Amino acid sequence: MGDIDVVVVGAGNAALCSALAARDNNASVKVLEFAPKAERGGNSAFTGGAMRVAFSGTTDLLELMPDLTAAEQLETDFGAYSEEAFFADMARVTESRANPDLVEVLVTNSFPTLRWMRENGVRFQPSYGRQAFKVDGKFQFWGGLAVEVNGGGPGLIEQLIKVALERDVDIQYETRAIELLFDGHAVHGVRVRCRGETCDVPARAVVLASGGFEANREWRTRYLGPGWDLAKVRGTRFNLGDGIRMALDIGASSAGHWSGCHAVAWDMNSPEFGNLAVGDGFQKHSYPLGIMVNANGQRFVDEGADFRNYTYAKYGRRILEQPGHFAWQIFDSKVSELLRSEYRIREVTAVRADSLEELANRLDGVDKAELLKTVGHFNQSVREEVPFNPNVKDGRSTTDLEPPKSNWANTISEPPFEAYMVTCGITFTFGGLRVDPTANVVDVYGQPIPGLYAAGELVGELFYFNYPGGTGLTSGAVFGRLAGAGAAKFALAEPHQS
Ligand SMILES: Cc1cc2nc3c(=O)[nH]c(=O)nc-3n(C[C@H](O)[C@H](O)[C@H](O)COP(=O)(O)OP(=O)(O)OC[C@H]3O[C@@H](n4cnc5c(N)ncnc54)[C@H](O)[C@@H]3O)c2cc1C
Repeated sequence: MGDIDVVVVGAGNAALCSALAARDNNASVKVLEFAPKAERGGNSAFTGGAMRVAFSGTTDLLELMPDLTAAEQLETDFGAYSEEAFFADMARVTESRANPDLVEVLVTNSFPTLRWMRENGVRFQPSYGRQAFKVDGKFQFWGGLAVEVNGGGPGLIEQLIKVALERDVDIQYETRAIELLFDGHAVHGVRVRCRGETCDVPARAVVLASGGFEANREWRTRYLGPGWDLAKVRGTRFNLGDGIRMALDIGASSAGHWSGCHAVAWDMNSPEFGNLAVGDGFQKHSYPLGIMVNANGQRFVDEGADFRNYTYAKYGRRILEQPGHFAWQIFDSKVSELLRSEYRIREVTAVRADSLEELANRLDGVDKAELLKTVGHFNQSVREEVPFNPNVKDGRSTTDLEPPKSNWANTISEPPFEAYMVTCGITFTFGGLRVDPTANVVDVYGQPIPGLYAAGELVGELFYFNYPGGTGLTSGAVFGRLAGAGAAKFALAEPHQS
């Protein structure tokens, strides 16, 4: 029969890794993508390409980054990031709710999966600009995140698509999957809407890799709660929750943190959805070096509670909760050199001033008198005797201040002052489908649904409340690879069901 072996829904990182793994296992593969070609790559294309991976030292990293020069090795302390540390980070930031079986799969497969990506031509490089500061002539990596894809998200997608096409994967754009073809026992393909037509795409197995529901304003309000309709979407406009809905419709089990999501500080004047020309440039992730204030002129989070990549994904929600759904991030000239490159983009909503009074006058919507009081109290509470070091949790904290700033507390005292207006930008949603450790979707009775696999953002039970930076792409690649292999093996198994 002429059926395709494996149909993959979506063409982001998880989907393309599934497609390649299915080809590794000799299945014929068709990828169906909602977006037009010009907007391909889903959220994955918007990323900076940071990927969390367990490694035991530079020797491991050389397998992923064989181009590392001797000079780079000499001037860099990459440290190590053990599987135990990765596992512990997942447990800690998710308040021990992440499914340990899935986390085990994620962690133990992280290094082999990145090596497999490298074999497929994906090039990695050290994440110097974002995860290490140069102190005393040496870069020191922190936060378990040393590796990023060369060319970021666009580079990743370009390479994965190139290899997929070379390996005869058929990619069909402007094709929205709307329903699973299900006979009450197994999945046999998908129904799609393609340029005004509805048609069926029969297949022996299906991989759903079509993202979460972050771009669906109605679902955001329904599941995340009031106010989430007003959040900006950091990435693609096509992740509407279709894959999740299609699977629930045939009896799949929902799983994970449906009222939770990844959301960050995002430029106040950014567009409703992401702009591929700007990529992740609207994010504003240097708040650990300064303070954040709301419309009342008050601080509302511990900006230095932990390394940036362990707090940024939950602070978007805190900003959304503030009056007017905005905040200003404030820095003085002592740290301006350390601000990430996204603070220097043309599209930024920024104010500069030579005095605190002038700054307070210029911060739209902020209570000026309260702001000056806040900065005054903050400055008095900084433990100046503790040395500042952005590469470690330096313990340079505030005393007797609520909320405290636990690390990297510097007075806001040296002009010029800079401030950046941010709102909440949603990245992806945490609730989704229940899968087993082979990425097979599980039904409400706890049984794997024959022929249905899932990977990427629409997998539930990995992230709750928070998220360790760089895990989304790794999770998509790990579970995508497993889903593709599982779907191919199922499709090619005898006796074949049609
Ligand atoms: C600005 C930004 C920066 C980020 N930076 C990082 C980072 O540096 N590191 C990291 O690990 N993570 C990062 N993330 C998170 C990361 O993007 C996601 O975790 C990951 O890309 C999700 O991959 P995915 O394949 O599941 O989804 P996606 O890449 O979003 O792919 C889903 C695809 O499915 C398609 N689709 C949706 N519905 C349908 C349908 N009905 N039919 C057919 N196709 C459909 C979509 O068009 C899309 O192409 C970032 C996200 C954003 C938005």
